[in-house]
Amino acid sequence: MNNLPTTEGVMPALFIGHGSPMNAIEDNEFSREWARQASRLPRPRAILCISAHWETRGVYVSAAGQPETIHDFYGFPKPLFDVRYAVPGSPALAQRVAELLGTAPGSQRVHLDPGRGLDHGAWSVLRMMYPQADIPVVQFSLDSARPGPWHYGLGQRLAALRDEGVLILGSGDIIHNLRLFSFHEQAAPDWALRFHTLSKRLIENGDHQPLADYPALGGDAHYAIPTPEHYLPLLYVLAAQRPGEQPAFFNDVVMSSLSMTSFVLGGHA
Ligand code: ZN
Repeated sequence: MNNLPTTEGVMPALFIGHGSPMNAIEDNEFSREWARQASRLPRPRAILCISAHWETRGVYVSAAGQPETIHDFYGFPKPLFDVRYAVPGSPALAQRVAELLGTAPGSQRVHLDPGRGLDHGAWSVLRMMYPQADIPVVQFSLDSARPGPWHYGLGQRLAALRDEGVLILGSGDIIHNLRLFSFHEQAAPDWALRFHTLSKRLIENGDHQPLADYPALGGDAHYAIPTPEHYLPLLYVLAAQRPGEQPAFFNDVVMSSLSMTSFVLGGHA
């Protein structure tokens, strides 16, 4: 908790569209930007990652001292399976998350999972941001059967961590429809462009309620969010927004039916 080099004591919060697991090992426009963003952030004391790739019933946080690297994908080249992101965990931060959410009012029981490692939603991004693997990482699970406003409510309570030197990192994709994804036709379909424009405008305006209640946004949202897991991490980041903060977008690209759109809230160092 000492010597926090933060801007006015508040850590930024970050949403990253992680896209393909290959971004974890490719030097491309997206992964380079992840590194650049990290270099401009104040150094976090620890990172709380809300990733699309840990879905549970109930709420869990990873509590391992040395979380393993989980290779939760198939059909990718061996170098991706060889990646080890040997970062420490933080049982103390896991405990702090349980405290924050587990106290009345509106308490939510949080299960500490000492066996959980890091999934690729976390490490694909973090190994590019912090290749030295020296900032402890805790993952927060998604109880993905719960509706958007419920997740947003948890995010509001987790937002206090920003005052404690913790980087809140949501890792997903605002638009993520693999069934409609085309490697051959990278141009985004009309519904994706419309949802991209709409969601960005709502984020820019700080108009979070319609984003939390995304099924009410209609047919384009239905295509963009056929399942909720890649979208929900966004709500945790938005819920951590402080008055007066403007999102700074980066990697703002829609490829076919997948968006890499990312943003940071809060000032750079
Ligand atoms: Zn993913």
